[in-house]
Amino acid sequence: MYPGSFDPVHLGHVDIAHRAAAMFDRLIVAVYDRSSKPLTFTPEERIDLFRQAMHGATNVEVTGYHGLTIHFARERGAAFVIRGLRANADFDYEAQMTSMNRHLEPELDTVFLLTSLRHAFLSSSLIKEVAAQGASLDGLVPDLVADALRARFQNER
Ligand code: ADP
Repeated sequence: MYPGSFDPVHLGHVDIAHRAAAMFDRLIVAVYDRSSKPLTFTPEERIDLFRQAMHGATNVEVTGYHGLTIHFARERGAAFVIRGLRANADFDYEAQMTSMNRHLEPELDTVFLLTSLRHAFLSSSLIKEVAAQGASLDGLVPDLVADALRARFQNER
C-alpha cells in the first residue's frame, strides 16, 4: 500500500504509484482521512483526484482509511508499505515512522522509492502556494488536479 495525505496528488506521487504498481501484483493507494498538516481537500476529493490521475492502471485501487497505517495494512493483507523519498529532509521523518511501524508490526516492511529527479522539488504544500498566487501549474500536477486547485483558490484571490 502507498499511504499518504495527497492533498492534492501531484506528479511526484503519480510517478511513485506507477513505479510501485509495476513492482507488485496489486497496489492500494491509501489516503489518510486526517493529517497533522492543514488540509485543503476533503478525503473524498483527495481519493477522487488520485483515482482519476491513475485512470487506466488496472492493478491500482485508491481508497481512504483512518487510524494507524499498520492496522489498515493488516486489514487489507498488504505485505509492504511504499513511501517516496525526495531529499535528506524526508529521511529522518520516514526513518522514524518506519521504525515505529516495524516496532508495532514487525512483519510489515517499508519499501522506499527515490523520487525521479524531475519531481524532486514537488510537494503538495508548495504547489498549493503556487496555485494560491495564480501561477502556472504546468508540469507539477495532472490537468484535472490543476483545474481543482484553480477552482479552490479562485475565490481567495
Ligand atoms: P505525507 O504522507 O507525509 O502527508 P504526502 O501525502 O505529500 O505526505 O506524500 C505521500 C508520500 O509520497 C510520502 O512517502 C512522500 O515522501 C512521497 N512524496 C511526496 N512528494 C514526493 C515527490 N515529489 N517525489 C516522490 N515522492 C514524494
